[in-house]
Amino acid sequence: MNYQQFQSPLNTEFLTLAEELKNKIQLNSLVTDPAKINDAELNDLIAMAKASFIPALFDTAIRLEKVDAAVCSFKLGMYGLCTDCEEEIEYSDLEQDPAQPRCKACREHSRYHHD
Ligand SMILES: [Zn+2]
Repeated sequence: MNYQQFQSPLNTEFLTLAEELKNKIQLNSLVTDPAKINDAELNDLIAMAKASFIPALFDTAIRLEKVDAAVCSFKLGMYGLCTDCEEEIEYSDLEQDPAQPRCKACREHSRYHHD
């Protein structure tokens, strides 16, 4: 299976979302000093955005976290494998969302058990 076509769009989305998150953190005055935002670890900014419970910030943080995980899995050579069962994720699902972390079976399983 060749996943190469997903790598560049994921990297682009990651950078776009990281910028967006920083802008929204500043717009919502969670941190008012731009220098502090630029110095902060991305994980700290994600945690801050999630804790704010401001919907626009929260959604960006969740998406960024998902995209970050997918970008990392490329580096580890684990891209395309389900984070739960380690089976291959359906290719058509990755075409729909390159940051999809789980196979269809595990997604349906978690829907039954966690929602
Ligand atoms: Zn799975």
